[in-house]
Amino acid sequence: MSVTPALLATPTAGPVLARPPLALTNVTLEYPDGGGTVKALDSVSLQVAAGRMVSLVGPSGSGKSSLLAVAATLVRPTSGDVVIDGTNTAGLKDKELTALRREKVGIIFQQPNLLASLTAVEQLMIGHHLRGKSLKAARSRAVELLDLVGLTGSADKRPHQLSGGQRQRVNIARALMGSPKVLLVDEPTAALDHARSASIVGLLRRVTDEFKVATVMVTHDTEFVPLTDAVAAMRDGGLSAPAVPGALLNALPSAGGAE
Ligand code: ADP
Ligand code: MG
Repeated sequence: MSVTPALLATPTAGPVLARPPLALTNVTLEYPDGGGTVKALDSVSLQVAAGRMVSLVGPSGSGKSSLLAVAATLVRPTSGDVVIDGTNTAGLKDKELTALRREKVGIIFQQPNLLASLTAVEQLMIGHHLRGKSLKAARSRAVELLDLVGLTGSADKRPHQLSGGQRQRVNIARALMGSPKVLLVDEPTAALDHARSASIVGLLRRVTDEFKVATVMVTHDTEFVPLTDAVAAMRDGGLSAPAVPGALLNALPSAGGAE
């Protein structure tokens, strides 16, 4: 299924963006399955403009995580183009792909994968140090981002001293360390209660606006979809045309609670 993603490529006002941070065109992903293959993504196209946030909904197994993995350049598609901030990733060697990902893509999974022995500020600093930045620069950016996500007093706490919501905030801050252009978020609230879920999605919205990143958030909490600019639904590896949140949710009674 091919999609015309004009809604997302065009800001609400002003000129059409020449280069959306994230552009997938006719992306197909097949996994080997017994003797044959399973199509996790079936000719998916999606563009997300800077400062826009798209929710991705759909039943379990429909390909949502596969779409994020391909957009994150963690998995190469079987065919189709993944263009990150103007660079077509198809032509890149593995090393170049890793460098592009570090520089341009922030990834946030459901369970914050934090290292038990490190403090919040250290969790953020590690990746930045890998990007070749000095420890001093890494620390000052880490402290800044922990402030931004509401963890000013928690910089020196280790994961076991933080709540689930606070750990997810560390995770979000860490994903922002490299100043990404694209933010990919897989079920960020699945392990959180309602109040914390709302504040995490609110934070992702604010980060999208402030840092002008192109954000895709997989969610089964349709309640939070109205905080995003558009919603697209996956089914059997195919992606619906993105729609304004209210319209699609009305048309899709099964969108909520499917997972
Ligand atoms: P969702 O995130 O919507 O639950 P996934 O993207 O995880 O869906 O999975 C889409 C389809 O691809 C499913 O049929 C799943 O079994 C299959 N799949 C996902 N990852 C792999 C993998 N690493 N190897 C083989 N099949 C996979
Ligand atoms: Mg998934």
